[in-house]
Parts: sequence; structure tokens; C-alpha cells
Amino acid sequence: MSNTRGPGVLQRPLPLVTAENRHHWQAGANGSWQVLRCPLCGHRALPPAPCCSSCRKGIPAPSPASGDAYLVSWTVNHQAWFPGMEVPFVLVLIELAEQRDLRLLTNLLGPDGAPVATADGLRADMPVRLRFERVADDVWLPQAVVGAGFAAGAHG
Ligand SMILES: [Zn+2]
Repeated sequence: MSNTRGPGVLQRPLPLVTAENRHHWQAGANGSWQVLRCPLCGHRALPPAPCCSSCRKGIPAPSPASGDAYLVSWTVNHQAWFPGMEVPFVLVLIELAEQRDLRLLTNLLGPDGAPVATADGLRADMPVRLRFERVADDVWLPQAVVGAGFAAGAHG
């Protein structure tokens, strides 16, 4: 993570965008998530790796993902880690619908886009959908939205 940067209401730590992670942090510009996928066996990987962790032959390349996912685990954060951070909020671990072992840690938003502040009503395998918030000129933060439904289309 880089230092906070730029003016704004909330100064939050931002990731350092590199050639290896650019697809992840900037996919939201087009409203769709990108995950590295092996061209030989189709295995998806997060975080980025130079070689496929499944077949160990393919070189993973960015590939569109649905953004549909399932809730795996969660916790309620009560610590304000930097000035201006509103607490409490829910941190979630989610699994990509297309590949249940591909997991992402992020925060949870309600259908109205507001941060979820309690774990009330959350359950394992609850469907969530990623949406993106532009938090800097070059960073779109993927966030899980509960109650948003899945997108149409197959998960393959
Ligand atoms: Zn592979």
C-alpha cells in the first residue's frame, strides 16, 4: 500500500498500481472485474502469480469475471485505522462464483451502497456482487454488495 494521496473527504491508504496488478485495480473503469486466468487450463488466480498454480505451465492473463460471489466469512471492525475512517464496518471474505476457491477480502455494502455496520442477517454462502468505487485517478476499489443479485449469464 502506498501512502494516502490527494485531497478528499477521506484519506485512505491506496494500493501501488503495478504492471502485475493493474488489471485488478483498474478493471472497475469498465464496470467489470478482471482476474488472472490460465490460457491452458482455465484456472484463475488471486493474487497475481507469474505461472499457473494449477497446471504450472500456463502464463495467466487478465480475463473478465462476473463479479458474482458468495460470502465465506466476515468480521465487524470497530477500530478507526486512520483519521476520518467511519466505524464500525463489516469486512468480508468472498468466493468468486466461477471458482469457489478464489477468494477476495473486501468490505460489505448494502443494496443502497452504504457500508454495512453489523453482522445481523449475514450467513455463509449468501450471494454478493462486486461493484467498484473510484477512490483515486487510477484505482477502482472492488466492494461486495449484499442483496444486489447475480448478473445474468453462466459462470464458467
Ligand atoms: Zn493452468
